[in-house]
Amino acid sequence: SDSHFPIPISPLHVDFSLHFPKFVEANSKISKKIEFADIGCGFGGLLISLATLFPDTLMIGMELRDKVTEYVKERILALRRTSSGDQYENISVVRTNSMKYIPNYFEKGQLSKMFFLFPDPHFKEKNHRRRVISTHLLDEYAYVLRAGGIVYTITDVEELGEWMRSCLEKHPMFESLTQEELDSDPVVELLCNATEEGQKVARNGGQTFRAVFRRIAYVS
Ligand code: SAM
Repeated sequence: SDSHFPIPISPLHVDFSLHFPKFVEANSKISKKIEFADIGCGFGGLLISLATLFPDTLMIGMELRDKVTEYVKERILALRRTSSGDQYENISVVRTNSMKYIPNYFEKGQLSKMFFLFPDPHFKEKNHRRRVISTHLLDEYAYVLRAGGIVYTITDVEELGEWMRSCLEKHPMFESLTQEELDSDPVVELLCNATEEGQKVARNGGQTFRAVFRRIAYVS
């Protein structure tokens, strides 16, 4: 349960220096803020692909399962040890319930990308409130994303794909990327093949349903 992991009382109370030791400055604080969050990161495949694509950007995976989080930590430490230079120093993972604690980790407008790759479907209608994309949670995501920040979602469950797209379409703070924008974004092609779940779906020849939306600026 939630009592088994620490919950920061605000973003100012999160100490990321142990997560990103190569980014710690003389004042023992990290030199930059986390910009990407992979929500329900599972085994961490996306973070590992993004780490080298955006070597100067700090990224965090958020994962509820204890053992999976530990696995990702070990995986990242091993990559740091065996790779040359400072590769993989920019990615880390925390164990938390992202449906409850996103605002405890990130300040207003801090993030430029959020990822929701192959989230649990929660098929039954009474369980839809457990889905990681909902109108209510999109309010929180809009708060922590900066204007122009992007939400990436993908699933192999058609009904969930339609649900995520329709929540995003209905939300006043998000707009869909155009086909041209999708084609020129190097991250988009990682959505279906960088994570362990995506690779499994691809192996089985499954279809995927993607929705990629931008957080718009406030209308004044
Ligand atoms: N994104 C990964 C991938 O594509 O391989 C993992 C997909 S897996 C089907 C969904 C993951 O979300 C699981 O690892 C699960 O433990 C995690 N998860 C579910 N609810 C969560 C929550 N409230 N907070 C954080 N992680 C959660």
